[in-house]
Amino acid sequence: MGYYAEPIARLIEELSRLPGIGPKTAQRLAFHILKMPADRAVRLVQAIAGARESIVYCSVCGNFTDVDPCSICSASHRDRSTIMVVEEPKDVVAIEKTRDYKGLYHVLHGVISPLEGIGPDDIRIKELLSRVSSGVKEVVIATNPDVEGEATALYIARLLKPLGLKVTRIAYGIPMGGDLDYADEITLAKALEGRREL
Ligand SMILES: [Zn+2]
Repeated sequence: MGYYAEPIARLIEELSRLPGIGPKTAQRLAFHILKMPADRAVRLVQAIAGARESIVYCSVCGNFTDVDPCSICSASHRDRSTIMVVEEPKDVVAIEKTRDYKGLYHVLHGVISPLEGIGPDDIRIKELLSRVSSGVKEVVIATNPDVEGEATALYIARLLKPLGLKVTRIAYGIPMGGDLDYADEITLAKALEGRREL
């Protein structure tokens, strides 16, 4: 029935489930994999399986890690009085690339989005509240500058400010509706510099 031998069809189907991969790209990738030297294809499979097996969420910050707590949470040279709140693990990578930030992180794994039925209890806000009691002075909120990101920032700020914490928001340089991990390093460094109190 199909145009492809069944194993190829299956490969294309799995690849097309990845974000940003349409049917055409999935077919191109599948054919590329089939043309690869066999050992390279095996290395690809092993890399996927190995990452899935060894990577867990850091029990402190929620970032991806292969040791728990992660290398950032356990680093003695990081400023433990500052926590930056981000939406996703990829945002930690984006901020780390600026080399300007020396504090800790807290990954929410999402944002509050009433339209999608995601409330405050569905993201890691409780975990953030339980962290801020121990010597934290400033919480930098670096959720994306879109509607959900702004709403989440305000929600968190309202919870934290009565606790006497300085709550800041990165602002300068990141385009509205933009994605944090698409911003270049200079833009992100500027955004960090220009953070404001909420
Ligand atoms: Zn961590």
